[in-house]
Amino acid sequence: MSDITTIEHVHCLIIGSGPAGYTAAIYASRANVKPVLYQGIQPGGQLTITTEVENYPGYPEGVQGPEMMIDFEKQAKRMGTDIRFGLATKVDFSAKPYKVWIDEEKEIHADSVIIATGASAKWLGLESEQRLNGYGVSACAVCDGFFFRGKEVAIVGAGDTAAEEALYLSKLCTTVHMIVRRDEMRASKVMQDRVKNTENIKIYWNSETDEILGEKSVEAVRIKNTKTGEKTEVPIKGFFVAIGHQPNSDIFKGFLHMDEAGYIQTIPGSSKTNIEGVFACGDVQDKIYRQAVTAAGSGCMAALDAERFLGGL
Ligand code: NDP
Repeated sequence: MSDITTIEHVHCLIIGSGPAGYTAAIYASRANVKPVLYQGIQPGGQLTITTEVENYPGYPEGVQGPEMMIDFEKQAKRMGTDIRFGLATKVDFSAKPYKVWIDEEKEIHADSVIIATGASAKWLGLESEQRLNGYGVSACAVCDGFFFRGKEVAIVGAGDTAAEEALYLSKLCTTVHMIVRRDEMRASKVMQDRVKNTENIKIYWNSETDEILGEKSVEAVRIKNTKTGEKTEVPIKGFFVAIGHQPNSDIFKGFLHMDEAGYIQTIPGSSKTNIEGVFACGDVQDKIYRQAVTAAGSGCMAALDAERFLGGL
């Protein structure tokens, strides 16, 4: 029987290529830890699906998210990081060196691991949502709103993301039907006010998405009022899901301590997990701040923690 698995030993393995992963890479490279970074399925992470970033210090005029992540990557490369395309699919942290499988065929043995796998958009879980994904269903208004210019769309969610995306869509689309499951919104007061004062955003309170309708592409949404049971069919072309994110931590389950939502728990004031030599940074361990700049800051912490750990080996 042939075994195609290749094994490689690395000093410091970084998993993920958002602000946390690249910042960890920059610091670890400068500390001569010779990190190897695997980018995952979305090189650059969530910022590659945003447009303008105005709150990252150092860019007085703002910067496009994808452009900023190219800058991060270039800087990590210039410092000497070995950046590779590939997805970590399995780990075994039960013994040292820690094992991480890439694309199920390459086995990395690492003295230390920095986890920076981020978070991904949540979905409602409807069959129609999955079937029509990419055919009118999207989890990123900023990426896909353009395709629905002059058309009617719906958005589900009531947090700051949903509010921000509804406002964005209201500038492109004729009407935005906003589906809110309770009788109030979670979004900050200022965002709520903006949404409520926008004429072409129609809010459906106490409502859930019963079904997204359409054969080949989205044609309508059936909205159910959970108080009255009444169902309304609204013709739309685009359906946006903005109900939050979940951490990309599945492959670490059973090894690392996590909260009930799957966020990796780190020792306060550090990036240390419950396993010595395994560190976590960025959105995979932060459900509170979730900003590019906080992710970058925690990536720096992880690299410094890893450097100290490796120095003590
Ligand atoms: P949130 O978790 O804050 O909000 C998720 C929203 O989706 C809630 O309204 C929730 O409803 C709703 N929801 C969840 N699951 C379902 C479901 N199955 N069906 C229908 N509705 C559902 O996520 P966000 O992504 O909006 O925000 C995350 C964090 O990022 C927050 O801290 C937010 O403040 C921050 N943020 C800040 C921005 C800014 O300051 N400019 C911009 C964007 C985000 P319910 O309220 O009933 O639970």
